[in-house]
Amino acid sequence: MAAAKTLMPIVRCGLTLGTNIPDFYEIVTAPIMKILNQWFESEPLKATLATDAVIGAMTSPSNPGSGYVLLHHVMGEIEEEKGAWGYVEGGMGGLSQAVASSARSHGVDIFTEKDVGQVLVGSDGAAKGVVLKDGTEIHSKVVLSNATPYVTFKDLTPQTALSPEFIKAVDQIDYTSPVTKINVALDRLPNFLAAPTPDGKPGPHHQCSIHLNCDSVDALETAYKEAMNGRPSAKPMLEMTIPSVLDPTLAPPGGHVVSFFTQFTPYHIEGREWTDQDREAYADNVFDWVERYAPGFKQSVVGRDILAPPDLERIFGLTGGNIFHGSMSLDQLYLARPLTSVSNYRSPVKGLYLCGSGSHPGGGVMGAPGCNAALTVMADLKRQ
Ligand SMILES: Cc1cc2nc3c(=O)[nH]c(=O)nc-3n(C[C@H](O)[C@H](O)[C@H](O)COP(=O)(O)OP(=O)(O)OC[C@H]3O[C@@H](n4cnc5c(N)ncnc54)[C@H](O)[C@@H]3O)c2cc1C
Repeated sequence: MAAAKTLMPIVRCGLTLGTNIPDFYEIVTAPIMKILNQWFESEPLKATLATDAVIGAMTSPSNPGSGYVLLHHVMGEIEEEKGAWGYVEGGMGGLSQAVASSARSHGVDIFTEKDVGQVLVGSDGAAKGVVLKDGTEIHSKVVLSNATPYVTFKDLTPQTALSPEFIKAVDQIDYTSPVTKINVALDRLPNFLAAPTPDGKPGPHHQCSIHLNCDSVDALETAYKEAMNGRPSAKPMLEMTIPSVLDPTLAPPGGHVVSFFTQFTPYHIEGREWTDQDREAYADNVFDWVERYAPGFKQSVVGRDILAPPDLERIFGLTGGNIFHGSMSLDQLYLARPLTSVSNYRSPVKGLYLCGSGSHPGGGVMGAPGCNAALTVMADLKRQ
């Protein structure tokens, strides 16, 4: 009966999809190139669309499952426009501030800069709250964690509260990530050869996500293979955005901020740690490529911040540097996210729940895992 209940959402989705089920099945399981080759002829167009099938994922457009990654990136909507993405005014922190202010208006207390040391587990095996790294104990009926499943279960939960089999399964979650993020401050707007703007005024293309080094699918395959062999790609895949074009709060007049989402970069370079020299050399190479598309770019740079996979892990608690709290591969989705044994937000520790993107439906600024987790907690509390 319980299993039947768990499957109900899938049954409902199946009914909604109706005769589209075979197409859905194909896109979820196929290499994206199989789908794109059915629909498009232009190589640069196919390669550009393929970038969103590998973004954030250590995979190539010819690997099964890359179709799902593209679907994941276009299944949202903004203001009823399907597949649209947007910027948050003031930067992504603006969204957290809006959520925080709404929560405070409902009487919620929020504490930041307070690292959790461990989840408190009572003698009955249930979560009783958390202890902060400064020793403060906070008692509660339930604990929700949006840290990665690895951080939640390996760093924050007493290992004695978990079975060896469960700990082994947590160890096997795939957190491989190819992403190096480069944040840049510029003293002027980039002027692209493909769509010149010599007057320095933004064109429509400055407002979009700008995909570079994706003139051919082979280029993406090569970039992927280099990272799989332990080296950052010589011709990295670059997704560039310039949010200050639409949001003047981000930079002084005339100046701009650019975000480069780049891949493929391995967690270790040929088996060793990244050095500062590696970071600078990689960013120099990225900037050399951008200079080819927008001459004068390098001269306009006034500052840069380079975040390789180990930096994303250290600074933001992203295990393996994985931006989605675990690969969005077929074996780690739906009923298997993050693990087949904990795919419904509950955990082996009664009262401890997962509510972040390591749980279904995965990564992205969408709030769905948190919403689903909250509904699960409310249902459990009602039953008590
Ligand atoms: C470089 C990059 C680019 C991205 N681009 C996009 C994009 O364009 N669009 C999009 O939709 N998504 C994007 N994402 C993904 C998106 O940011 C994540 O999916 C989303 O933030 C996940 O939210 P979350 O609440 O699950 O986890 P997080 O936002 O990772 O929050 C987890 C929090 O837990 C905290 N934490 C960990 N351990 C502890 C501890 N012991 N004590 C206290 N706190 C702790 C962490 O510091 C962190 O603040 C990107 C991510 C990255 C890294």
